Amino acid sequence: MPSPQISPNADLNGDGEIDVFDAIVIGAGVSGLYQTYCLRQAGLSVRCFEEAGGVAGCWYWNRYPGCALDSPSESYGYSFSDELLQEWDWKHHYSKQPDTEEYLNFVADKFNLRPYIQLSTRVLSAVWHEEQCVWEVEVEGGQRARASFLVPAVGHLSAPLTPSFEGTERFQGQVFHASRWPREDPDFGGKRVAVIGTSATGMQISPELAKVCAHLTVFQRTAVYGIPADNAPIDPEVQREWKSRYQEIHKLIRENATGTPVGPDPRSGHEFTQEERLAHYEQAWKRQGYEKFLSIFWDVHTDLELNAEYAEFLRGKIRAQVNDPVLAEKLVPAATLPFGARRIPLETGYYDAFNRDNVSLVDVRETPIECLTEQGIRTSEREHEFDIIIYATGYDGVTGALSRIDIRGADGQSLKAKWDAQGLSTYLGLTSAGFPNLLISNNGALCNYTICAEWIAEWITEFVQYMRRHRFDRMEPTPEAEAAWVEHHDEMGAKTFWGHAEYSWYLGSNVPGKKRRFTLYAQTGPAWRKECYGAIERGYEGFTLRRQSDDGPVDTGSAATVPYAP
Ligand code: NAP
Repeated sequence: MPSPQISPNADLNGDGEIDVFDAIVIGAGVSGLYQTYCLRQAGLSVRCFEEAGGVAGCWYWNRYPGCALDSPSESYGYSFSDELLQEWDWKHHYSKQPDTEEYLNFVADKFNLRPYIQLSTRVLSAVWHEEQCVWEVEVEGGQRARASFLVPAVGHLSAPLTPSFEGTERFQGQVFHASRWPREDPDFGGKRVAVIGTSATGMQISPELAKVCAHLTVFQRTAVYGIPADNAPIDPEVQREWKSRYQEIHKLIRENATGTPVGPDPRSGHEFTQEERLAHYEQAWKRQGYEKFLSIFWDVHTDLELNAEYAEFLRGKIRAQVNDPVLAEKLVPAATLPFGARRIPLETGYYDAFNRDNVSLVDVRETPIECLTEQGIRTSEREHEFDIIIYATGYDGVTGALSRIDIRGADGQSLKAKWDAQGLSTYLGLTSAGFPNLLISNNGALCNYTICAEWIAEWITEFVQYMRRHRFDRMEPTPEAEAAWVEHHDEMGAKTFWGHAEYSWYLGSNVPGKKRRFTLYAQTGPAWRKECYGAIERGYEGFTLRRQSDDGPVDTGSAATVPYAP
């Protein structure tokens, strides 16, 4: 390894011992585990810092009742090891949180990753030292470590968001954020419970709590389109069948525009009469979970007129599940919200829960939350008393988890300050100008999470290997390449319906004061992968690579080898 020319364990700040690694990974979730594996396979010394007391990332933290995958289990596991695919049995079609957490622990053990992971360690800051070409990381408690490469794998939905209601500190009952659920379930028996939030998390947790608490009050600001998950245990025969054709399943995931084994109907909805289209939606509705909407005419997802028709079809499905027509109307999304403008939640018994006597809805657009009181929540109408308040209020998506670490790049520039000013600004979604040797192992597109996380980790590893082979100490995207990428990223986002949503983590508009900008790359996983590998194939296009001993940038030519093939 052409390590920066500094003496090992040199203490750059003059106050104690420092551990030195080739790479520091932050986070031991789906991305971080595989990133650690890849970098180790490439022969690097790696330390992975993880804030949680266990591995599994979001599947460690999100242990609230009802938490489950919204991708089918057979598409969620890693694809890189056939042995792993054959050894692991999924239990449900949409794996429940305890099983997914167990799976990721199984992966950590099987690939002997634990020696490289330091748990219960929150990274506070990472500072780039230009002369030595190293990142120095400080964690809670004062421990420091240094590495040539900083590879955050912190997830795009991991910085919980809690609204700052007036009087929050006054409430005398228990308060939980769904994404920081205690390891031991709270006792809901006989309790009056409030859930604030009615999106993916709120829809999963509410029906489960309704079964066990005395009364559940759901606070809704925006009604979204919940689709039945139809979750069920997996028939052993189905499991065997998956195991016999995982290669084919993964090929479909890599090729389909949906990033799933289910491709959309390639025909345009406009080729059919309205009656035929409705029959087509009805037919698709019989399929399981997300196949209901992924298998329909492709242009329902891109054509506003067709989308409005399909959205009305879904409103009818919601109305049919709720006995009280007035309540049903409140649960139905507004006509101004296209289907797919917000991430589509899968639900199990959410709408049906409102048919129970112990469940009620507060529409906070009609009666806004004014403050929290000692006893509960005061709206413009009245005070609601609770024993427990649960925030299912989402995340500061994509930029949030990285901005909560004080990352200082070249010339002391703060990543948070950069993104606060400009919104998400990256080159290829994986690097950022002004932050040398920072490789962001985050899946930032609308694609299958794990398969995409795999090629990102492989791309990063390939980049690092290339630098080591060619004795480069420093890489950084050029401001011009980043500006062009940001423009392209924005253009792609503008072609979607995302901009139609008032509040959405796709736009950052769910976070008060956050600069509005598309936070996800609105392209398929394969298209994004092509862009990233294209940059490598064209000789690390858009990057400046430098050797410490050199005076300036080096022309890398176009001789890069790309060993990874899908
Ligand atoms: P979210 O989609 O951002 O929804 C947050 C909810 O809290 C919304 O209903 C929002 O209302 C409400 N809310 C926020 N601030 C509020 C306020 N001040 N007053 C009243 N209501 C407020 O967050 P999420 O449900 O946690 O889901 C986030 C993402 O995580 C999902 O899109 C999905 O990608 C992922 N997720 C996946 C699963 C899964 O099934 N695997 C489960 C959970 C989450 P508005 O709608 O009006 O903003």
